[in-house]
Amino acid sequence: NQSPDDGNSASKKPHHSNSLTYWIAGAIVAAIAIALTVPNVATHFEIGGELFLRALKMIVVPLVFTSVMCGILGLGDVRKLGKPGAAAVGYYLCTTVLAVIIGLVVVNVIRPGVGTVDQAQLDKFAQKDTQPHQVLRETLAESSGLSEKLIGDVFPELEVNSEKAPGVETILENLALMLVTDNLFGAAVETQLLPIIVFTIAFGALLTTMPYETRTITTLVTEANNALLAFVMALMKIAPLGIFCLVAARFGKAQAEGRFLDELGQIGWYFAAVVIGLAIHALIVLPLIFWIVRRENPYRFAASMSQALLTAFSTASSSATLPVTLECAEAAGIPKRSTEFVIPLGATINMDGTALYEAAAAIFIAQAIGFDLTFGEQAIIAVTATLAAIGAAGIPEAGLVTMLIVLGAVGLPLEYIGLILAVDWLLDRFRTTVNVFGDSIGAAVVGVTIPDEPS
Ligand code: ASP
Repeated sequence: NQSPDDGNSASKKPHHSNSLTYWIAGAIVAAIAIALTVPNVATHFEIGGELFLRALKMIVVPLVFTSVMCGILGLGDVRKLGKPGAAAVGYYLCTTVLAVIIGLVVVNVIRPGVGTVDQAQLDKFAQKDTQPHQVLRETLAESSGLSEKLIGDVFPELEVNSEKAPGVETILENLALMLVTDNLFGAAVETQLLPIIVFTIAFGALLTTMPYETRTITTLVTEANNALLAFVMALMKIAPLGIFCLVAARFGKAQAEGRFLDELGQIGWYFAAVVIGLAIHALIVLPLIFWIVRRENPYRFAASMSQALLTAFSTASSSATLPVTLECAEAAGIPKRSTEFVIPLGATINMDGTALYEAAAAIFIAQAIGFDLTFGEQAIIAVTATLAAIGAAGIPEAGLVTMLIVLGAVGLPLEYIGLILAVDWLLDRFRTTVNVFGDSIGAAVVGVTIPDEPS
């Protein structure tokens, strides 16, 4: 079999120009400034943001297919898949659990829910006619642009009767079902990446075992992959504009509604606690792992991923950011054979930021309503937060929906999710950034287990 790429070639590529990063960062600052001063003007930029987002999402499915396929073909032999595959899944699981632990510690130390939320606020959400599932469905439809019907399909949690919380067994069953689709094209249409990745790994692995040369398909997939990445690079040239529009429209909407700052005032400590937890994970824990494994400066690596991180913040979607993450990681010198399959896998199952947030938010809600959690219940929250993060799709506010699992598992009333709803769109941006950073550190770390030259 032929190797589709010479492994470490990424390190020979020119590094990203810093000026584009500055343009994107400047666009975000300018967009926020405009949104805060003239919100009604800012909201008109929505269409520009939507166009940029669509262009990114448009290439996600074909890119995941060609990228994962190149990664597998680059290993040369299916038997070599075991070690890096297990390393990727194991690494992702460990860092997710670490993130959950940080979330639990931070929220137990800061105790943002104790004495900060007044009774009137609580009563507002406790009304008997509040239907958390419906509220979430609407919020999600608005933020993700998916139809409510599709949301029901993508999030089985929303179909679950609120009286009965799904048990761990049901959650595991749902996760298992997410791995395999009965219709590959259906999965592609709904951008369900996990079954596409599973199929591509199996298909690519089979190709490497064919008794004859599979040069044609290897060349085809490799060239398609390179062309798609070139497309991403071209798209990034207009990223400052697209990102400006996305951020201006969303922040402008929040400012125009005027509700955001009031609610943030009430639950500011919760917001701060989650952001502090995310910062500890992204600025201390992940860099430490990177340094221990690679003995390189993690912050320099973070700087070379900055375009992906800023895109994650602006889109609140790891799936939509995936093309940029792939492009940046390769330009940052991570071996292609690692980025090609580790990053798409990470974008779907590895969500450190989401896991941390799920644990912290559930405990905040418990604190706010005076629900005493035992140590055992906190442990249940840790386990379900990990599973809920793995199950969350890489789309805006997916974590809010899978949090129903976490709340349900310890018997917390679901309607209090309303407490954190108003600030979730902003928190989502921070956790998505950490999710994407976790994926790229993962590719760098797992990359050391993959031999340079396929034999
Ligand atoms: N928006 C996040 C992501 O795409 C998921 C979440 O809601 O936590 O990574």
